[in-house]
Order: sequence, then structure tokens, then C-alpha cells
Amino acid sequence: MKKLTLLFSFCFTSLFLYAQKQYAVVIHGGAGTILKKDMSPELEQQYKEKLKEALAKAYEKIKEGKSSVEAVEAAIIVMEDSPLFNAGKGAVFTHDGKNELDASIMYGKDKTAGAVAGVMTIKNPIKAAIAVMQKSEHVMMIGKGAEQFAKSQGLEIVNPKYFWTKKRWDALQKVKKEELKANQPNAMNAHYPDYFLIDKKFGTVGCVALDKDGNIAAGTSTGGMTNKRYGRVGDSPIIGAGTYADKNVGISGTGWGEFYIRTSAARTVAAKYEYQNKDVKAATEEVMAEIEKLGGDGGIIALDKNGNVAMTFNTEGMYRGTVTKDGEIEVEIYK
Ligand code: ASP
Repeated sequence: MKKLTLLFSFCFTSLFLYAQKQYAVVIHGGAGTILKKDMSPELEQQYKEKLKEALAKAYEKIKEGKSSVEAVEAAIIVMEDSPLFNAGKGAVFTHDGKNELDASIMYGKDKTAGAVAGVMTIKNPIKAAIAVMQKSEHVMMIGKGAEQFAKSQGLEIVNPKYFWTKKRWDALQKVKKEELKANQPNAMNAHYPDYFLIDKKFGTVGCVALDKDGNIAAGTSTGGMTNKRYGRVGDSPIIGAGTYADKNVGISGTGWGEFYIRTSAARTVAAKYEYQNKDVKAATEEVMAEIEKLGGDGGIIALDKNGNVAMTFNTEGMYRGTVTKDGEIEVEIYK
């Protein structure tokens, strides 16, 4: 009888595991007030196609047996090169009309990490973050120094004009106008006045991948927030805030960066997973709830060593997508 019960529970567990999808890659392309009514069918299609392309590129690496770092790099490059997202080309503008880019990567196997912040000439900041991780003894480099290092590593350097897009330029003018109307030209100094809540963040990109050897990598790349000033840096290049990976789980965040820094968002998800046995869904939801309680918003993606995925957000939408271990791609935008 005991044997029979054991056999039954074994079959049941196997069936359950079989039924549950196992994922190899998860990406986000930013969270915010993304509403179907504001989106033309053509634009929606463009976003979906780009997300699918990014996932396919990452999956190709995983299928070939490459490391999760290479998969994350491949997905993020697709989104950095697309003007649709707030990363690389298409990044938002600072108050001074510049594009200052941030990116980071972490490899769970050995907890190595790399990040760049406030760079203006590196075509693909995620490549620079990976170079910092793999080719230097540092974790984070900023501004001119980071650019000099990227150049020394043979990375592509571009004229800052490369990052200019009309859509982001117009968004900056709109936010500045609102600021003037509210007679508060020092938005980043003020205590979150109402006009600050105009959606200034859109389209940061991130990816978490799990390779065939069971190693996880997570990466994030962004232009930050429209109208940022005083050399403001958000959570995206900060290991433990916007990006984190260990042997159990990888995380990438997108949203109002200050809140992700204050909650150590990405690291807290990993800690909940490790110390409280929370699954990725519960862990990301709890961190998102804390961010919301403090007044922040955005989303978090996570992928664990067993291929479980979470895509949690408290905004109207989040560009997002997954690939299963069998190569099945799914993308979504709205709630
Ligand atoms: N988290 C980014 C930042 O605060 C912005 C975003 O995710 O859209 O810089």
C-alpha cells in the first residue's frame, strides 16, 4: 500500500512538473502608463516584433549551449539598437538635452558583476557593462572613465547624436513645459510634486536567462528618466537594486529607480527566495508591494534555476516576453 502511494505521488509530481512550463529567458522593455487606447495597431506590432526578435536572439545562444551572459547580451543589444526602447538608441533626454546611459550585468554562477553609468558615447552600454565584469577588477565605472575603458576594449564608440530621437526630444520639451507651468523648474529637488508623476520613464530594457549548465545571468540597460539632472543615476546600473543574479535566481527591474534603490529591490527578491523559500512570483510581488507603499511604480522580472518565471508590475502595462526551454516565444504588453 505504501509503495502504491509512493508510486502515485511520484507520477503526480512528474505530471505536474511536465505540465508546468520551464523558461529559459525572460525580458522586459519597460513599464509605465502603456494603454491599448494610446497605441496604434502598427506600433503595437512593432513592439511585439522587437520583443520576439530579442527573445529569439537570446534563445539561439542558449540552444547553442552558450552562457546566460551571452544570451542576456544578445537580447539587450536588439533592444538597445531599437529606437522603441529607452536604452541605447531611443534613450530619454536629460534636463540639459543629453542622453546619459546606464547598464549592468550580473552572472549568478560566481556573482561577478559589471556596470556603467552616465555614458554618452558607447553604442551598446550592455557590452561595456560586460567588459567591466569580465575585463576589469571593478564592478562599476562612470562617465568619461567608463567611455575610455570601453574604447580600450574595442567597443563601438559613436557621436552622442546617434542616440537622438524626435519622440524622446518632444517628451523632454513636454515635461519641461509642465515644470514651468507648475513653476517648479527644479523637479529633481522638489518633493515629488504632482507633475513629477507624468510618466517620465518608459522602455528601460532587461533580460534574465538560464543556460544549459543551470547558470543564471541578469542585465538591465536604460537612458534613465526624462529630464533627469545633476548627474542623476537610477537603479538600473546598481547591482542589487535594478539587477541581481545568484545561483538561485536572476532579477531585472524597471520603473521609478529611486524606489528600487531604496528597497534594494533586486537583491531583496533573491533574499526572499533564498531565506524565506518564496517562489519568484511571491518574492517579486512582495517587493513590488513595498515599492508601491513607498510611492513608487514599475515592474520586476525574475527567473529561477528551475525555469520558473515572474513578470510583476503595478503600472498599466509592461513590455515583456518569455521563451520556454523548448523555444516557445510569448510576448505581452498590457495588464
Ligand atoms: N529604472 C530606470 C531609472 O530609474 C527607469 C526605467 O526603468 O524606466 O533610471
